[in-house]
This record gives sequence, C-alpha cells and structure tokens, in this order.
Amino acid sequence: MGRSIEVDGIWVHSDIIPCCNHCGYCQVGRKKIENVDFFRLAALVDRFYAWRQQQSLDDFKVGHWFGYTHNFDLPQMIAEKRLRALGGWNLDVILLGGLPDRSVGEMRAWLKERMDAGFASVISSFTGYGVLHDRWNGRKGDFERLMQIQRIAAELGMGLRQRIFLTKSTLPLLDELLKKLDDLPGNVVERCAYLWFYSGFSARLEKERISEETFNSLPEHIAKILRKDWKKWRSEAKWMEAVRQEETEVPQKVSLKLIVTESNIDRVESMSCEEILAALQRRTQEAYAAIPIRRELCERWGDSSNQSMYMFQEHAERKWLDAYLQSSPIQFERELTYLAVD
Ligand code: SF4
Repeated sequence: MGRSIEVDGIWVHSDIIPCCNHCGYCQVGRKKIENVDFFRLAALVDRFYAWRQQQSLDDFKVGHWFGYTHNFDLPQMIAEKRLRALGGWNLDVILLGGLPDRSVGEMRAWLKERMDAGFASVISSFTGYGVLHDRWNGRKGDFERLMQIQRIAAELGMGLRQRIFLTKSTLPLLDELLKKLDDLPGNVVERCAYLWFYSGFSARLEKERISEETFNSLPEHIAKILRKDWKKWRSEAKWMEAVRQEETEVPQKVSLKLIVTESNIDRVESMSCEEILAALQRRTQEAYAAIPIRRELCERWGDSSNQSMYMFQEHAERKWLDAYLQSSPIQFERELTYLAVD
C-alpha cells in the first residue's frame, strides 16, 4: 500500500553554488551544478510568497535552497538574507564548509563585508581534527583552513558556531578537538555535537555510526554539548518501537519540492503558481504512492537488532526504504519526497 499526502508548502531547490570539499559523508551525495541565475530563482521564490499572501494562506510554507555552500557574492548573500526573512528566519550565520581557498587578507575582507551586511556569526563542522578531518572532508588542509577562518571571524568580532560529528572514528579525537576549539579567540555562541544524517554518502557509512550503548555512556563534557533534541535520538530498534506505537497511517503533511534546472527554468517561469503547484502535486503524489507506508517499511525492512543511533525517524525510514528498494527495484521520483537520499 502506498502513501497519501497533504501538501503544506513548496520548496524551491536549485544547486547553483559549487562546493570545494569532497566529504565522504556528504549528506547531499552526488552533486551537479546548475547554470541558473540566482536572481531568477529568487524571483520565483518571491512569486510564491506573493501568491501565499494573495490567497491568505498564512500556514502554507515557502522555502528554498540554492546551493551547496554560502559562497554567494555579496548581492546574492544579501538577497538570500532577505528571502530567509520572508520565511521568518533571521539568517545571520555564514556556512564555512566548502568555500574556496582565500588568502588571510581576502578572507578577512570577505567576512567583513558580510558582517557589515548583518551576518553576525560563522559556522564550521568538524569531523575529528587534523588528518582525519581532512580525509573525511576530502580536502587537504581543510581542518586548518576552518580553524583559520574561525580565528579571523573571532578577530572581527563575529560569533563562532561549531558542529562536531560523533562517529566511531571521531570519538577518540574529541578531547583534543575540543581543546583546539577552546584555544580559539572570540565568543563561541554555539557548540553542538551531531550524528551523521542517513542521507547522501553518509547512508553508506553505517559502520561509522555509534551504538546506543556508546551514546548513553558519552562522558559528561561531550553529553553536555549534544544538540538540544538529543533526547529524541534513538537506535533503529527503538525507532521501530516508536513506529509500532503510532496509531494509524494518516495522510502525511509534506512540502512540494520544485527542482529548478537550466533545462526547466524557462518553462517554470512561464507557468502560474497554481499551474506549478498542480503539476508538482500530481508528480509528488505519484512518488509517495510508490512508497510503502511507514509501518510496512518498518515491519518488513527494519532491523530490530540494529543498535546504531539515528537523529530522526525519517533517517531510519530512509534506511528501510533503501532495503525495500534493493529487493524490489522500482522507478519513481524519490527526489521529490522527504525520503530522498541525494
Ligand atoms: S558536506 Fe557540505 S561541505 Fe562537505 S561536500 Fe557536502 S556540501 Fe560540501
């Protein structure tokens, strides 16, 4: 039995900003850069906000994602901030992952321009430190590069945000990593430990996942920096228990994903919002109809002996869907669903 959905929004997606890293755990997976102008995409997003207002559909979500990194030029970055504000989010942080190499002076000027435009902090993700981090991120010198940019940002007076991934290979390096991060100047406004998502390339790295037992016995100083929602994280076995306790399968609320490419942008621009929504809703419904309901995926394809930890239910669901598709390969537009893996 397939899934039924209720549409609660639209997400305009186009990958136009390249990434200079080659992370082995990249949650995006395979990357393809679209040659689409940022401001044409921004105009599309603006149209959906205007349409929502005209229709008085305040609860209808509108969102967007335009690239793998924050290597936008300044006008684009300012426009990105404005678009996020329309969605109710104050974007004031710059992602440092995947940026191209810049000299110290160039990076200082690049950050200063953005700070003057209202960006108050920078964020970096660390996969251990030194050689291990560089290896996982597929870029020689990446750890030192991120540390140097955090140092420059601190000197400029920007806040520092730091994400730390907990995996089997990074756990032994955490204390030394924390020491290095503590030695940075400036103000750490956020330091959070995460698990890898089950998405993109990290879906192939199950052996790196920490177990529930390891998770429950993390030392206090690591447990203290877990992301706020850590109490909801579970092993696959526990996610299966949670799914079994769900009452009935109701239509799922989902946002449509409008994937804009160089080959479809002219057509998308020529359509009204209603036409885009109707066509995309049809395709999205078909995609969900191809996916067994959650309870069935869980019962038939879940692994109740798996004690590895996952942050969200949808990550366990993606794993079950992968197992199902291995035994029953079917063609459908998975990328339109929230169970997309890349
Ligand atoms: S995880 Fe981020 S920085 Fe790394 S390759 Fe993927 S998009 Fe680039």
